[in-house]
Amino acid sequence: MVTDSRESARKDWDTYFMDIAYMVSTRSRCLRRHVGSVLVQGKKLLGTAYNGAPMGVADCSEAGCMIVEELELQITGGEEQMIKKQRCIRTIHAEQNLLLFTDRIDREGSTVYVTDQPCWTCANMLANSGINEIVYHRSYPKDSDKVVNLMQQKGIQFRSLADYEPPEQAKINVKS
Ligand SMILES: [Zn+2]
Ligand SMILES: [Zn+2]
Repeated sequence: MVTDSRESARKDWDTYFMDIAYMVSTRSRCLRRHVGSVLVQGKKLLGTAYNGAPMGVADCSEAGCMIVEELELQITGGEEQMIKKQRCIRTIHAEQNLLLFTDRIDREGSTVYVTDQPCWTCANMLANSGINEIVYHRSYPKDSDKVVNLMQQKGIQFRSLADYEPPEQAKINVKS
């Protein structure tokens, strides 16, 4: 039997769609965070989105990030600590843009691939959007417990790609 060497090098679907989400994230003009997401129905790509300011409005590269400071509860070694964190609120998150630019009927039973684990607000919206699976890569510990719990309640598959390596061209240094 002859095995096609191209077959072993061929990307699985998870890698394929996550690569696309990462390439989409390079469109983001936020100086702090580049997030990309794609909507997939079966094996079909139905939409792509990244975090950005509303169309026709100055984005982070033109107007700078719109920074807010928030106190965040962090638990390290069993000790609770309030830590001051900065966040850019100029952009509409990638997952929210994805919902704005896709149709409800297309989303029923679909999968969202997103470079970063969704924040609470995005997760809450995705939970009501008709999708039934979320696949992410980078973790976002701040909202993780709440989000995992919500997905369990909704029966939405929620998984991370542990061994995934993003494409070189999509690795952009941003402030964390
Ligand atoms: Zn920004
Ligand atoms: Zn979000």
